[in-house]
Amino acid sequence: MQVIENFINGEFITSNSGKYIDDFNPATGKQIAKISSSNHKDVNDAVGAAKSALPYWSSLTLDERIEWLDTIADALDARKEEIAKTESMDTGKPISVARNIDATRSVTNFRFFSEFTKQQEMMQFEMKDATNYVHRKPVGVVGLITPWNLPLYLLTWKIAPALVMGNTIIAKPSELTPLTANLFAQVLVDINFPKGVFNIVHGLGPDAGQAILEHPDIGAISFTGGTQTGRIVARTAAPLFKKLSLELGGKNATIILKDADLKKAAKGAARAGFTNSGQVCLCGSRILVDSSIAKEFTKLLLKEVEAMKVGDPTDESTEIGCLISMEHLEKVESYIELSKQEGGRILTGGKRVKDNGRQNVNGAFLEPTIIADLDINSRTATEEIFGPVVTLHTFDNEQQAIQMANNTEYGLAGSVWTTDLVRGKSFAKQIDTGIVWINTWLHRDLRTPFGGVKNSGVGREGGQWSLSFFSEMTNICVKHD
Ligand code: NDP
Repeated sequence: MQVIENFINGEFITSNSGKYIDDFNPATGKQIAKISSSNHKDVNDAVGAAKSALPYWSSLTLDERIEWLDTIADALDARKEEIAKTESMDTGKPISVARNIDATRSVTNFRFFSEFTKQQEMMQFEMKDATNYVHRKPVGVVGLITPWNLPLYLLTWKIAPALVMGNTIIAKPSELTPLTANLFAQVLVDINFPKGVFNIVHGLGPDAGQAILEHPDIGAISFTGGTQTGRIVARTAAPLFKKLSLELGGKNATIILKDADLKKAAKGAARAGFTNSGQVCLCGSRILVDSSIAKEFTKLLLKEVEAMKVGDPTDESTEIGCLISMEHLEKVESYIELSKQEGGRILTGGKRVKDNGRQNVNGAFLEPTIIADLDINSRTATEEIFGPVVTLHTFDNEQQAIQMANNTEYGLAGSVWTTDLVRGKSFAKQIDTGIVWINTWLHRDLRTPFGGVKNSGVGREGGQWSLSFFSEMTNICVKHD
C-alpha cells in the first residue's frame, strides 16, 4: 500500500497532523493508499516554500519556462501508461478511458501551453507622443483545487498555464484521487525541477482546501468542483480580493432536432450521457428530442446504451467502469428512487452491476440508466446527479426545446444534433451555456474559452484566458522625447 505524503519544497513530507486518510480502489473496495491529512500549518509551510521559489522562477525568461513545460511533457509522456493505470485504479474508470482521455490530455496540456505561449505577441498601443507596452506579471503564489473525476487532466490544465506565466503553486487534489498528483511530483523530482515552485498539500477540502482559500499570501484561486463548494470558495476568497476562477457543475442538454441523423445522434447522446459513468461536468444528462422522431430515436438510443460494456476497469474492452465510491453510488441511486416518486419510467438500467468477476464484487458499479416521463421541472431533471443517469424528454417545437434546455440553474454545456447547420447555429446561440457543440460532444480546441454561465462558474479557462488568469496585465507608458 502506498503512503502519499505532501510535496513541499521538492520533498515528500509527512503532514503536521500526523493523520492519514484512506484511499480506496472503488472497483474492488480495497484500500490502495493512505494520504496525508493536512491542515493550515502544512499549507503555511507550502506557501513559505512557494514564496521562496517565486523570485527565481519568475525571473526566468518566458522561453526558459516554456522549455520546462516541454521537459515536463516529455517526462510525463514517458510514463503515460503508468498514469493511465494509476488513474484507472484510483477512480474506477476503464483503462481505455484513462489512457485516451486522462493520460493523453495530461501530456497535451503542457505541450499545448508551450506552443500557445510561444505564439503570443506583446501588446503595444501607440499614441501620438507615447508608446504603451502591456506587460504580463505573474500573480505570485496561486492555489489550485481540483476534483476527482479527471484528476491529473484537470490539475495539469491549471498547472501548465500557471507555471508558464511565472507563478509558484500550491495544489490540493481531491482526497479521493491523490495518486496521479503524487506521480506528477515524482516526475518533477526525476527531472530536477526547481524546488518549491510546485507543492502539493493533500487532505480534506474543509481543512487543507479551506486553508488555501484563507491564506493571505495566495493571490489567486483556480477551483474546479461542485457548485455548492464553489459558493464556499467565493465566499471565502472574494473578501480577500484574490483572483478567482470557478469551474462548477452542469446539467447539460443533448438536443435532437427532427432533421438529425438519428443513428449519429443516438451514438453521440449515449457517449455524452455515459462517458466516465456520467461523471464529467460536460455530460449530457438530459436528452431533449423532437416528439415526431422520439420513438425511432429512443429505440436507437437504447440499442447503443444497452450494448455498452460495464465492468472491470482493467479489462481493455470495458466501456463503463464504476463510480468514484460506494457513497457516491448511493447518492446516485437515491436519485433513481426519487425519479420513480416523481413519475419517471426507467427505460433501461437502474440496477447495480454485480457480476464483474471475483475482483469487483464490492465495486461501485451501476448500469447506464435512462428515465423517461419526468416533468422537465422535476428534481431528477434539474439537479446535477453526476452519475450514469440520463433523463429523456420530448418537445413539440424549437421554442419549447430552447426553454427546456435553459430550464436549469446551470449553464455549462450542451449539444445540438441536426443536419441543418444554419439552424443548428441559430439554435446554439439561444442556449445559455458556455459551450454548445453541433453534431459532436467533448470536441475541444484548447485555444477556445471554456467555462460556464449561471451557476456553472465564473471566468474562463483555455488559451489566452488561462494565461490572463494566471498573470497580472500591467501597462508601461513611455513618453516620446
Ligand atoms: P467538490 O466540490 O466536492 O470538490 C472539489 C475540490 O474542492 C476537492 O479537492 C475538495 O476536496 C475541495 N473542497 C471541498 N470543500 C472545500 C472547502 N471548503 N475549501 C476548499 N476546497 C474544498 O467536487 P467533487 O470532487 O465532488 O467533483 C465533482 C464536481 O465537480 C461536480 O459538480 C462537477 O460538475 C464538477 N466539475 C466541474 C468541471 C468544470 O470544468 N466545470 C470539471 C469537472 C468537475 P475534498 O475532495 O476533500 O472534498
